[in-house]
Amino acid sequence: MNDCVFCKIRGGEIETDFIYQSDRIMAFNDIHPLADTHILIVPKLHIKSFVDIDTNQVDLLAEMVKTAQNLIKDKKIESGYKLIFNGGNFQEVPHVHWHLLGGRFK
Ligand code: AMP
Repeated sequence: MNDCVFCKIRGGEIETDFIYQSDRIMAFNDIHPLADTHILIVPKLHIKSFVDIDTNQVDLLAEMVKTAQNLIKDKKIESGYKLIFNGGNFQEVPHVHWHLLGGRFK
């Protein structure tokens, strides 16, 4: 998608510090963090929103779950975290992403 922020991050047109990357997934800090830890876990494939994820995409879904679990451990936020998918009017960037929030909220 030409004008999608997260596709531009994937393509290197917008810079970010990747926390994790594979063929299928990327994870990076949210530019406007709402908590001490605020990471976005994003499929590289442009999928518009949560309801557009095909449940046959089991490898993608499993890797997103594994990435979230690893980041929770790496960031030592096991004692308090939230995982959020926004959709519809609550979704600002139309490329599906999972918010991982932890630590103190701002
Ligand atoms: P949502 O409302 O779920 O679509 O959230 C989109 C999130 O993307 C917001 O929390 C933004 O702060 C974040 N965001 C937008 N542009 C960037 C960017 N270039 N790098 C990192 N995070 C971004």
